[in-house]
Amino acid sequence: MRRDEPRFPLFALERHRLATDGQGVTTLAAAYGCPLRCAMCLNPQSWRKGTAFMAVTALELYDQVKMDDLYFQATGGGVTFGGGEPLTHAPFIQAFRQLCGDKWRLSAETCLNIPEPMLNVAIECVDEFIVDVKDTNPAIYRRYTGSDNKQALLNLAALVKAVGPERVLARVPLIPGFNEQADVEASVERLRLFGVTRFDTFTYRTTIGKA
Ligand code: SF4
Repeated sequence: MRRDEPRFPLFALERHRLATDGQGVTTLAAAYGCPLRCAMCLNPQSWRKGTAFMAVTALELYDQVKMDDLYFQATGGGVTFGGGEPLTHAPFIQAFRQLCGDKWRLSAETCLNIPEPMLNVAIECVDEFIVDVKDTNPAIYRRYTGSDNKQALLNLAALVKAVGPERVLARVPLIPGFNEQADVEASVERLRLFGVTRFDTFTYRTTIGKA
């Protein structure tokens, strides 16, 4: 094992997912750590102190997921990297791609609020990008996530240009208390100017204080 081998902070692994995060049957590999702090985060364990995770190598993850090879190949599915934010570990996904080859579909659920060099690596090894845009309005985004969205939008524009619109799904939610339907529509229109054509618009539920 190389000392500089990329490792993925795996805190959850879910098998046999269908139509939730990418095409076909998928296994979700969730990364610990996220640059954002969304007010209605569904997975706060992905960034809270004290969450247990294992820093796995690409081969170690491959060995854990390869039992579903037949499901993946029969359905056009594969592995979805989520979190937290998985694309801050793009070199790991690249190493994983070298192990699984092209037979599995690799997807990433990402906020894209990541350094540009990580995006450039991801472009080379991820088949589908499920992008959690939230809202393109900087003020709404900052109030909801605690962060700026400039880098995320720059990355999204570069991504669509690099891989084409078919490989990008933009999630643009209505977030009660944070944006309105008109804001969602404004975000969709802005993203169309970036070349985005695939959208997932929905409403966050607030019944338990989480999205
Ligand atoms: S980007 Fe996702 S994981 Fe990170 S804080 Fe927001 S909802 Fe939670």
